[in-house]
Amino acid sequence: MIGSRPIMRHAWGSRSTRASLPGSRASDSEVRGRARPGLLQVVTSAVRPTMIGTLVFIAGMAVILVWFVAFSRPGLAAARHGSQALSAGELAMTDEQDALRGYLASGDAAFLQADRTAEARAATAATATLKAFKNRDPQVSTAFAQAWTAAQAWEDKWADNVENGTWRAAADISGDGTVDTQEQAAFLAKDVTLFDRYRSAEAKVQQAARSSESSTMTAQTTALVAVAIAAMLLGIANATTLFLGRRRLHRLVVAPIESLSREADRVASGDQRPIATGGDVPVYEVAQLRTSLQGMTSSLVTDRAAATQRGDELLERTARLQQVLDFSRQLSASLSLTHVVTNLTRAMRQVAGADSVTVWLQNWDDRSLASFNPAHPESSETIEIGAGAVGRAAQYARTMPLAGSSAHAESTGAAIPLVIGGRVVGVVAAVPSAGNELDMEMVDALALQGAAAIQAARTHSEAQELSRRDPLTNLANRRQLTVDLAAELERAVRFGHPLSFVMIDMDHFKRLNDTYGHQRGDQVLREVADTITREIRAIDGAYRYGGEELALLLREASGADAVRTVERIRAGIATRFPWASQSPVTLSAGVAELDPAGLSAAALVSAADQALYAAKRAGRNRVRLHVVEQTGQRAG
Ligand code: GH3
Ligand code: MG
Ligand code: MG
Repeated sequence: MIGSRPIMRHAWGSRSTRASLPGSRASDSEVRGRARPGLLQVVTSAVRPTMIGTLVFIAGMAVILVWFVAFSRPGLAAARHGSQALSAGELAMTDEQDALRGYLASGDAAFLQADRTAEARAATAATATLKAFKNRDPQVSTAFAQAWTAAQAWEDKWADNVENGTWRAAADISGDGTVDTQEQAAFLAKDVTLFDRYRSAEAKVQQAARSSESSTMTAQTTALVAVAIAAMLLGIANATTLFLGRRRLHRLVVAPIESLSREADRVASGDQRPIATGGDVPVYEVAQLRTSLQGMTSSLVTDRAAATQRGDELLERTARLQQVLDFSRQLSASLSLTHVVTNLTRAMRQVAGADSVTVWLQNWDDRSLASFNPAHPESSETIEIGAGAVGRAAQYARTMPLAGSSAHAESTGAAIPLVIGGRVVGVVAAVPSAGNELDMEMVDALALQGAAAIQAARTHSEAQELSRRDPLTNLANRRQLTVDLAAELERAVRFGHPLSFVMIDMDHFKRLNDTYGHQRGDQVLREVADTITREIRAIDGAYRYGGEELALLLREASGADAVRTVERIRAGIATRFPWASQSPVTLSAGVAELDPAGLSAAALVSAADQALYAAKRAGRNRVRLHVVEQTGQRAG
């Protein structure tokens, strides 16, 4: 459990992140501080009235049941039993009267026997009646006591006289010892009077008993109706309290939870607004749930915002990397320095946010940097290594701020060294537009690519230069001669301009080598080349044809012009090496002039060669002209 707290905190983001958001999670103590009732408490209070109503109903039903079983039902049974006993007693009394009257009329003792039987039945019925009515209705008891008294009066004053055999004495009113008809009638009338009294009292008892029974039944009916009404009322009350309780539960619990659920759905569907804090939540658990959801959605919103930002950053980064990649592709499309610098400048503007860009290239020979403008290659500035931000960037191979430097006093630009293989090949001076900054990450990436491309372009151009030049004499080589000769031949023929080709061969050079050694021979070749380069015009070309043979391509020069030039060269060389007295340094030359009508390169070279050999044959150290006509035939 101890370990779970930090995990939850971690899952919801840091505390400071949550605190910074509106509607962030309230503390537990704040939730408890409002002293809200708990869910169980709310549910209990909602169903309590219904529970109480149900308990009251059960208690009422129990009371009714006890009353019915213990009192009402036995009372009714006793009343019925008493009425039956009463009727049986009256019947027995009537049978007793009939028997006694029969005996009086017949004198038959069998009637007396019947009387005794009836009297016993009457006594039994009286006892049962007394028992049934005892401690019940006082009216019935009183009426029964009166009926009992009347019955006793009939027994004492009439029936006992007949049973005892003393009726004659009782009936003899005159006291003459005999009972005449009148007296007999009077004695029978006395029976009627007494018995009628008994009957009358008996009828009252019956009436009282029926009345008692009826009131008991009425009480039962009333009780049943009351129970039904009470049950109905309790049912209504229970339904009402249940309905009210349900509404209360809905208001206090269900509605807030539904609201929270909607809010959570809203946030889940991408609505960034946090869960509302307004509106009181009356139930503690729901309040806690809201607080938890608020915390969760707040961190969700924070995380989503962070993820979106990260995504945007990644997209932007990917786009920039794509631009760097495009830049790399463009760079690799050509080995031309102009192409490389043009693309580096453009990429610095488009990808790295530079407004003005200057590319400086390191000169290997001297310790300086030269600006390179692809649009105007001729207009180049030079900066000393170590001078200014650009010079220092080259010196220390470090990016230097341009701010404060004389050239960029107001800028916040940078001088970025172009380093490849630990060697600085140049510097890029980049200045952003006003108020903006350079994207140094992109600047570095582009500088790396640019340095490699510049190095490759320069190496390529150096290799090309080497492939065109002869390393000993620094003249153009024979390969270059082939290219130039073809181009010049075509141009001269097309425009009808003169063109002369000269073949030069050192005289007895083998002997010179043999006499002074090959190094001296090499030295002589270099100096001859330098002399020739100086003597010819800028538009002319000097080439090492092979060995100790050289060639000249003299543009816009007729054969005579060429002979003059070569003669000057020959004369200069003949006196240039006085030390070579044992094997003097001279040269022979053959000049071939192009007829404007045109001729193939091979024919021109061959003509010059023939003129050269003519010079050799004539004794060396001389120049011969060989005019070539369109037909390829020689003249002169
Ligand atoms: P010729 O007057 O008939 O031309 O005689 P030559 O000795 O100059 O002619 P050959 O063709 O017999 O010999 C040419 C010599 O030039 C042979 C070679 O030693 C020399 N040679 C060719 N190239 C070089 C080079 O680069 N340096 C040196 N030192 N000598 C070279
Ligand atoms: Mg030769
Ligand atoms: Mg030679």
